[in-house]
Amino acid sequence: MRQLGLELEGMPKRLYSCTPSRLNTWLDCPRRYRFTYLDRPAPPKGPPWAHNSVGASVHNALAAWWREPYDRRTPAVAGILLTRGWITEGFRDQDQSTEWRDRSRELVMGYTSTLDPSDEPVGVERTVATRTSVIAVSGRVDRIDRRGDELVIVDYKTGRRPLTEDDARSSLALALYAICASRVLHRPCRQVELHHLPTASTATWQHTDATLQRHLSRAEDLAQEASQADEDYRALRDSTAPARTRTTASSTSSTTEAPAVAPPAPGTPSATGSATASPRGGELRAKLDERFPAHPGPICSWCDYRQHCPEGQAAGTPRQPWDALVDLREDGDLKATAGNENYRATAGNENFKTTPGNEGFKAPAGDGGATGGGPATP
Ligand code: SF4
Repeated sequence: MRQLGLELEGMPKRLYSCTPSRLNTWLDCPRRYRFTYLDRPAPPKGPPWAHNSVGASVHNALAAWWREPYDRRTPAVAGILLTRGWITEGFRDQDQSTEWRDRSRELVMGYTSTLDPSDEPVGVERTVATRTSVIAVSGRVDRIDRRGDELVIVDYKTGRRPLTEDDARSSLALALYAICASRVLHRPCRQVELHHLPTASTATWQHTDATLQRHLSRAEDLAQEASQADEDYRALRDSTAPARTRTTASSTSSTTEAPAVAPPAPGTPSATGSATASPRGGELRAKLDERFPAHPGPICSWCDYRQHCPEGQAAGTPRQPWDALVDLREDGDLKATAGNENYRATAGNENFKTTPGNEGFKAPAGDGGATGGGPATP
């Protein structure tokens, strides 16, 4: 029988299937990685964040706008789409939700007023993927443009902090999207852009084959670390958990197996249940905490799993679900102006920066991850 952590001779190693979000979560905080991708059932998250509602609503409206027929691609329609699809979760009250809906409507109307509706993107919310000898990576791109013979990756941002050229250059996600898009669509793709709607600015970076390869190598290094951690997780779970007997759903025969789930984090409702009240449950949790250490920092205030993480609670003050919106307002007037030409994407435009793993206000990528929950600049 195969032992976890060991490869059978001659057998190809299984590819690590991931998204950029998963890799960045591993890089940012192994404890959050475990909560997000390994513990099943996953620990309950905190309440939804209002800034995530803003980001998801804006992304959804812009994606829907490009799906409209050409003659309906107007700023007014963008505003209608935003209003119709407005996500109300996380706001302090109805008044706050309405205020931010109206501000967000102005953002999408201003942004779309700078776009050429006839300039059909190659992809909108397009999933792209590729594989190497180490990873099978995929992700969903906000927009893929074609400019000349090349493709351009466009990523919308609605967070507080204006982004820089360095943000575009250093983004693992954008580089991986470029590689995936190039391979899926059979065209060169080296330019990546961050379109920051609140400041009507664009940060652009032109990758070379060498810089893309460096990002890919970095992704493979992270994947190997995370893959090993995944295997260690399963080995710890199987070696520590007591065998138990169950009856399968499809037959009346009994099988002996290790539990399929890890002990929930302290403080979760099920942590007090019989399955985890045993000394072995505590032993397993301690070993997992050691293998998946917490990386506390300012982002902990915005982490969906903060309630399960004593280290994170000590690192940052608790936040209300709408607190990032307050931060936005304190920054002054970030409203977009209709017709603002700064929205126009231009090669060489210098702006922007994102923290690795922080997708800002971007909508969840549907990979079970993207759970950082924090604003672009908490
Ligand atoms: S609260 Fe902080 S340390 Fe804890 S899991 Fe979240 S990000 Fe990691």
